[in-house]
Amino acid sequence: MPTSFSDPIWQKPQAASAFQSLVAAGERVDVLIVGGGILGLSTALHAARLGMSVQVLDAGEIGQGASGLNGGQVIPGLKYDPEWLLHHFGPERGEALVNFAASTANAVFELIEDEKLAVSFVRNGWIQAAHTETALKAAANRDRQWRARGADVRLLNETEIAAMTGAQGYLGGWLDRRAGVIDPLAYTSELARVAAVAGVKIAERQKVVQLGRNAGLWRISTESGAELQAKAVLLATNAYTGGLLPGLAETIVPLHSFQIATAPLSSNLAATILPEGQAVSDSRRILVYYRKSADGRLVLGGRGRMALPTSPADWAHLERALLRLYPALSDVAIEKRWFGRVAMTPDHLPHIHEPEQGLLAVVGCQGRGVGLMTALGERLAGYLGTGDARQLPFPVSPIRPIPFHAFRQVGVAATIAWYRMLDAFER
Ligand SMILES: Cc1cc2nc3c(=O)[nH]c(=O)nc-3n(C[C@H](O)[C@H](O)[C@H](O)COP(=O)(O)OP(=O)(O)OC[C@H]3O[C@@H](n4cnc5c(N)ncnc54)[C@H](O)[C@@H]3O)c2cc1C
Repeated sequence: MPTSFSDPIWQKPQAASAFQSLVAAGERVDVLIVGGGILGLSTALHAARLGMSVQVLDAGEIGQGASGLNGGQVIPGLKYDPEWLLHHFGPERGEALVNFAASTANAVFELIEDEKLAVSFVRNGWIQAAHTETALKAAANRDRQWRARGADVRLLNETEIAAMTGAQGYLGGWLDRRAGVIDPLAYTSELARVAAVAGVKIAERQKVVQLGRNAGLWRISTESGAELQAKAVLLATNAYTGGLLPGLAETIVPLHSFQIATAPLSSNLAATILPEGQAVSDSRRILVYYRKSADGRLVLGGRGRMALPTSPADWAHLERALLRLYPALSDVAIEKRWFGRVAMTPDHLPHIHEPEQGLLAVVGCQGRGVGLMTALGERLAGYLGTGDARQLPFPVSPIRPIPFHAFRQVGVAATIAWYRMLDAFER
């Protein structure tokens, strides 16, 4: 990756240390987790608390994957509304899934509070901003369903959304007060710190290159020559999944999400742009999402090209979106540009696979993994400890590679171009 063209604003806490803790050769752990992002670390933390011995290995530094690069929007729920989930999964699993989806933001903010994590955050809600009548109707439908369940949500009219966002062009929207914003790199680093305190061994720069089973034990080899043994393995590599488990990478479509951050806003601008600190996603097909950072910048993200960026021009579409929303920012410099990978599944739901006993893999965050992966980690730890599948919010499914996966980039690029055109007509 050309590092000069990926320069995130997020910060590890000053006291953050490197992790280089490996179990002794010949010793075996209960659970070995490949991937030290939010999912791997949350699972590790909760598994250690349940009394399991746990080793986490990450190919890079903690927070190098999507967990340390994302927009830091902590949004509960899935892409689907409660009624769809009940219809699709049936009353029992559907109800459990709706309750799980409702809890995911809580899982993050409770961890921050209970563990006193050094993570800057604002919990003042997330706005889904509607730019068409159709999007407004969808917002009203979502509002009805969550309000019936007692969620702290409400619809916003045109005047309210203009005051809360300071942005141009919205007809109204939906405010979900359960949500908030965090510094995602600080959060991931702090998750690693508390997991280590709970007894988890974490080793950075240990890329797992081989996985095999022998005499009931998993044997794991890393690029640097470490050989480990474990009773169970969790692949928590998500959008950064490689070829460790045949077929797994072909079950997801990895997309790039690009972000920009302005220079810190003047107090005049800061008073009119998101004055209460909410996060926003808009209702376009190729949506943009934005928030303010703790140091007063406006951070905005959206889809980016699949090829690696080669110059700041690759973020130009986001700068145009920013000025469409906030013309007053025309003189404010864009100081930071970065990107990361998001894993999409065809059904827009996370997938849990268990191709062999004691081998779990989870993929598919759909760009909403901060809360989701935190909460899912706790459930996975419960499942690893008890073997009780009722702990899992999603059913375990077989690994089903997407047909014609090799051509995904062509398909994605064509779809994005088509959606951008439709969005442009609705402006
Ligand atoms: C730009 C961007 C913006 C986003 N914005 C938001 C947002 O605002 N809100 C939200 O909820 N979600 C957001 N998301 C999604 C969210 O970041 C992810 O869903 C979540 O971080 C996934 O966590 P994870 O632990 O599953 O994966 P990751 O954090 O990606 O961790 C996977 C890890 O696996 C490691 N790995 C891969 N292969 C190996 C190997 N062979 N050996 C060892 N380690 C390996 C990688 O190094 C990586 O650290 C965004 C994502 C991106 C990229």
